[in-house]
Amino acid sequence: MSLDTRRLAVAGVALASTIGLAVCGPAAAPPAPADLVVRHARVYTVDAVRSWATTLAVRGGRFVYVGDEAGAEAHIGPATQTVDAGGRLILPGFHDAHVHPISAGMEARQCDLNEAGSREAVLAAVRACAARDPAAAWIAGGGWDLTLFPDASPSKALLDAIEPARPVFLTAADGHSAWVNSRALAIAGITRETPDPERGRIERDPATGEPAGTLRESAVDLVGRHVPPASAADYRAGLDHALARFAEVGIVGVQEASAGREMLDAYLAADREGRLTVRVRASLRVDPGRDTDQIPDLVELRRAYTGRRLNAGTAKLFLDGVIEAKTAALLAPYVEGPGAPPRRGDANYDQARLDRLVAALDREGFQVHMHAIGDRAIRMGLDAVERARATNGPRDARHHMAHIQLFDPADIPRFAGLGVVANFQPLWAYADSYIRDLTEPVLGPERSRWLYPIRSLVASGAVVAAGSDWSVSSPDPLRAMEVAVTRREPGAPIGPGWIPEEQVDLPEIVAAYTIAGAYLSVEERDSGSIETGKLADFVMLDRDIFGLPANAIHTAKVVWTVMEGKEVYQVRSEK
Ligand SMILES: [Zn+2]
Repeated sequence: MSLDTRRLAVAGVALASTIGLAVCGPAAAPPAPADLVVRHARVYTVDAVRSWATTLAVRGGRFVYVGDEAGAEAHIGPATQTVDAGGRLILPGFHDAHVHPISAGMEARQCDLNEAGSREAVLAAVRACAARDPAAAWIAGGGWDLTLFPDASPSKALLDAIEPARPVFLTAADGHSAWVNSRALAIAGITRETPDPERGRIERDPATGEPAGTLRESAVDLVGRHVPPASAADYRAGLDHALARFAEVGIVGVQEASAGREMLDAYLAADREGRLTVRVRASLRVDPGRDTDQIPDLVELRRAYTGRRLNAGTAKLFLDGVIEAKTAALLAPYVEGPGAPPRRGDANYDQARLDRLVAALDREGFQVHMHAIGDRAIRMGLDAVERARATNGPRDARHHMAHIQLFDPADIPRFAGLGVVANFQPLWAYADSYIRDLTEPVLGPERSRWLYPIRSLVASGAVVAAGSDWSVSSPDPLRAMEVAVTRREPGAPIGPGWIPEEQVDLPEIVAAYTIAGAYLSVEERDSGSIETGKLADFVMLDRDIFGLPANAIHTAKVVWTVMEGKEVYQVRSEK
């Protein structure tokens, strides 16, 4: 089993050569004309031997030829569209292994604070939201940056000064905190007497014990459940926004990281109407408050919501929170000021219940997708998979852990050993203020060496996939690829990377965003590389990222996105 996951490339070779022979062998009849032939390109195929080509041909949504100019002629008929790429780079279409398309799209249409880079800009944006729609009962939205406020805890007073009358509810960019005003606290009935809910925290004024305006984890829902629910039309509009954004950045396949029923309805409707321009592997939310009795419901959702480009065969478990809010589950306590009680962060499951759930999901044939940030959460997840394999026997399960921020190095080889895919968000792997101010100080230098150890996971033989976690951060894979290579902020001058031992090479991170993402969504036989017989998923870039200085990779832009042989995005002047 681990041989299978480690040697993806070998399977790719076998597949390509069989189909290739059938189409191009000397005894074959002349091929039917292609729908599309692209010539004079630099095609980086991401096939098993990472070969290059100059020409590709597409018929019926699949590649029928990948090779040199000479071989292309036979595929050109009177109705074939031919495109001269002018030497531009073509890559397989990108796969985002962990993303929240609909909530990101809906957030972009609400009070969107993702672009506000200072405290003043956040407050100005909230002021603009309040003024924009005076009839709205609530001011809701999100995307504010935790690092802009002391202790990642903005106060209710800041919001009260802007909007004293209507309730305000604004989730943080990472989705694990919310910032609310006094009116919202009153509607939710949260006072100094309200205890912290299980798996959550109400930040309080240290002097008075009054709720201060920031809510963590499950406490977010104390107010969130009073916000008027979004309508089906809102979900649909959010998805449409996301699909347009994916097309622009070259994404053809995604793992929806946390799907509820309303989202699944929106995906299924889009799939049936032929509007779904990415293939979606949907991760069904597992309720941490329930045990294995919820599994029949998940089985039913999987049945009901699997369509042509939609597959709901994944179950999502949140094992812990985030380090910045000290809600990630650590093996050893956080570094705290003198006198503070030692805290390790709570996991959302005790090990026995996690083991039961993972084993039961594995037995039902689900892929298990775990949110794991702290080293204790990662270990718990690996232990649960190990026990599931012992109970059920090994199978081609492709369980994965996303975010995987802090490792105990002893756990690194276990990913390959257990066939667990390492699902990183590479855009986070540089020393920004989240790392410098909120992460390294609470971990200390020794543990901080093992933050986002992408190179170590690649070297261990694990399958490494990559995703954006959009709307937490940009969905543009090229930005994240640059950071994986440089471990520096996109565009920063060339210089030493943050934890340079963990920098990867460009081909490795391109593979993470293409063939490994396809593998994660169980479609590596159809997508993830440019090979004869596979679906024609590809992107053309305006600049060759293999020829650019590493700190300019993010400046490259997708100018043409083709999904299953159909153009879904094009910058006309650039093609
Ligand atoms: Zn996420």
